[in-house]
Amino acid sequence: MNTDRIATATPSERARRQAQIVQALGAHVPAHALLWHSEDTTPYECDGLTAYRQRPLVVCLPETEPQVQAVLQACHALEVPVVARGAGTGLSGGAMPHALGVVLSLAKFNRILQVDAYSRTAVVQCGVRNLAISEAAAPYGLYYAPDPSSQIACTIGGNVAENSGGVHCLKYGLTVHNVLEVKGFTMAGEPVTFGSQALDTPGYDLLAAVIGSEGMLAVVTEVTVRLIPKPQLARCIMASFDDVRKAGAAVAAVIAAGIIPAGLEMMDKPMTAAVEDFVQAGYDLTAEAILLCESDGTPEEVAEEIERMSAVLRDAGATAITVSENEAERLRFWSGRKNAFPASGRISPDYMCMDSTIPRKRLADILLAIQAMEQKYQLRCANVFHAGDGNLHPLILFDANDADQLHRCELFGADILETSVAMGGTVTGEHGVGVEKLNSMCTQFSAEENAQMFALKAAFDPLGLLNPGKVIPTLNRCAEYGKMLVRGGQISHPDLPRF
Ligand SMILES: Cc1cc2nc3c(=O)[nH]c(=O)nc-3n(C[C@H](O)[C@H](O)[C@H](O)COP(=O)(O)OP(=O)(O)OC[C@H]3O[C@@H](n4cnc5c(N)ncnc54)[C@H](O)[C@@H]3O)c2cc1C
Repeated sequence: MNTDRIATATPSERARRQAQIVQALGAHVPAHALLWHSEDTTPYECDGLTAYRQRPLVVCLPETEPQVQAVLQACHALEVPVVARGAGTGLSGGAMPHALGVVLSLAKFNRILQVDAYSRTAVVQCGVRNLAISEAAAPYGLYYAPDPSSQIACTIGGNVAENSGGVHCLKYGLTVHNVLEVKGFTMAGEPVTFGSQALDTPGYDLLAAVIGSEGMLAVVTEVTVRLIPKPQLARCIMASFDDVRKAGAAVAAVIAAGIIPAGLEMMDKPMTAAVEDFVQAGYDLTAEAILLCESDGTPEEVAEEIERMSAVLRDAGATAITVSENEAERLRFWSGRKNAFPASGRISPDYMCMDSTIPRKRLADILLAIQAMEQKYQLRCANVFHAGDGNLHPLILFDANDADQLHRCELFGADILETSVAMGGTVTGEHGVGVEKLNSMCTQFSAEENAQMFALKAAFDPLGLLNPGKVIPTLNRCAEYGKMLVRGGQISHPDLPRF
């Protein structure tokens, strides 16, 4: 379905198409599983990136795998775009509906199918919440390591699609390092399995390709995750710095000392001020930046690592160091970090959370560059970093009701991404590209590279119906890339202009 057709579809054409889809899907799912009145579909019009909204024609909530398969087959036959949706906490517009399409909500796939303490794995349906996996594994002394701050709500299907991370991914890896097998269906309804229950699989590593593919290759229905033993003890250091340069250098110094903390996070002054007002985490409000450095393991390992990290931080110029004395205090330190996004929502009508990466040693440079951008675009920005991974989350504060502010916010965000790439980083760390960073993909990748990514998508979904218009810039969505295509004519895929 090309964008011109979306723009020109008349209300009566949309209504006809809607009725056609409802009738076709109604043959495979019960009536209560289909929503199409605007008051029912409006809650699905955006994800966590609320600046961009689009109501779908139909929302479908299947309950079984045969229903998912039949719905996909029916949409494929009618050439209807489909956007899979987990909890809708994504921050890059990945689950934003298509104007003439179906949102396939996997909310009812919420069962934990098996926890196997011997193999240290869990088999779960895609709509299971991230935190629910660890809760189910807790009686066995196990847990699922990747812990996005949204873990109370986000689903494992969404985590797989975004290759989500969290504050403990520095030591324990991202979703891709903690998932063994993914099952689902292609857009044509063909069952697919990526990876296996065993250590490795023969053939290409398509598990790593589907993890982070942002719902573009397949609809995931079942995931097998690794579980790991809960550490005996965890303690967290909170270190204050009177200069962001020193804080950035301290992060690099910790890693250079051969220490891999369980978490290594940084927040700047505007962020600690917003957070402290919200959750009273005990942060030092006089500091220009604070670091949270966690150690976990046996009591002996933790004691030794805390001592070594404290020494490195002191040498790097920390003005104050506090070590959590008990579990309640450790959780209080983290409650501030984990509530950074909602806290920003209290100080601004809207915020746009950017998500790029840079080499660790450039942390202070990017923070200073962002401060200069605040002047340039006349918007405030609060910063929280998965510092150990070099993953930035600048939260640009703006009012979406003011079109000029939204425009300046978009330019500000694009500038951060461009600067990150110029510093040797990437345009996305863990939140995905979605619609938000579509144009910035042209900053990172050449036309040929984007074309290769498009070719992989086309191999799974030749009609381009699964989550169209996301992630990979194509002719109609990225002006520069479009010009290159016209000039160079390197790509001749007939479906390319569909998006
Ligand atoms: C307050 C807050 C804090 C956050 N903190 C973090 C963080 O620390 N780390 C981090 O990585 N992210 C974080 N996020 C972003 C977000 O929570 C993650 O990207 C999460 O993985 C999205 O899961 P979801 O179930 O909400 O997916 P959705 O938002 O519903 O969808 C996200 C993408 O996945 C696709 N998708 C969803 N389910 C499926 C499926 N079953 N099959 C195929 N495709 C599917 C969708 O089409 C879409 O492209 C945060 C978000 C918020 C609001």
